[in-house]
Amino acid sequence: MIEIENVRKSFGPLEVLKGIDLTVQKGEVLTVIGGSGSGKSTLLTCINGLEPIDSGRILVDGTDVHAKGTDLNKLRRHIGIVFQQWNAFPHLTVLENVMLAPRKVLGLSKSEAEEMAVKQLTHVGLGDKLKVYPSRMSGGQQQRMAIARALAMSPSYMLFDEVTSALDPQLVGEVLDTLRMLASEGMTMICVTHEMKFAREVSDRVAFFHKGVMAEIAKPDALFGAPETPELQQFLAATH
Ligand code: ATP
Ligand code: MG
Repeated sequence: MIEIENVRKSFGPLEVLKGIDLTVQKGEVLTVIGGSGSGKSTLLTCINGLEPIDSGRILVDGTDVHAKGTDLNKLRRHIGIVFQQWNAFPHLTVLENVMLAPRKVLGLSKSEAEEMAVKQLTHVGLGDKLKVYPSRMSGGQQQRMAIARALAMSPSYMLFDEVTSALDPQLVGEVLDTLRMLASEGMTMICVTHEMKFAREVSDRVAFFHKGVMAEIAKPDALFGAPETPELQQFLAATH
């Protein structure tokens, strides 16, 4: 479970998260929508401790992410994060790229890491690309490789930050299908996305961020079907 309690975060004079309260249950798929600069990415980077917070608390399975003495490296093994773009090591094959973290961070043997990497690459539909170099893959394939790389650490949680935003439209579907598959398998996920159809179909709940405030959170039918705040109404009107 991820528990976010009254989290505030500023960059200089700019308050980016203005007291966020949010709990994500095990197995839940939460999508986060909202305008540019509303604090969506910052929330994700605070959850895995990439960014400090100013006040409040974030607990991941009871561990206080920002407490002194928390082993962030250990914590991050349980939280996979995938961004818009991931720069794979160009001189390593897809398989070698995905094997790296399990070897270095988890200390798996070469054969164990290879087995895990093959399993996850196959899972995301890249079982025939093991020996290929990343530059030879499409954007959608590269994003699925990034997802496989995160999954190879056997995370309990996956955070996705606009993983389809940098893709050509015809490549978006294959990556969303991979996320759908993970959701259907019960992975606990927080997905920041601009894909409203995806959010509506896949989410257990959708959170709408506006200027650092979580302005609404509800099940998708309620949130999209009956938005309560003028801010969400405007946002949805502009994205359709
Ligand atoms: P987008 O949809 O454009 O990705 P977002 O909702 O993810 O937006 P954030 O990236 O969380 O927004 O940024 C929130 C605000 O914080 C923005 O005004 C941004 O410029 C600012 N910000 C983010 N990271 C930093 C940083 N490292 N230093 C200073 N300001 C930052
Ligand atoms: Mg962002």
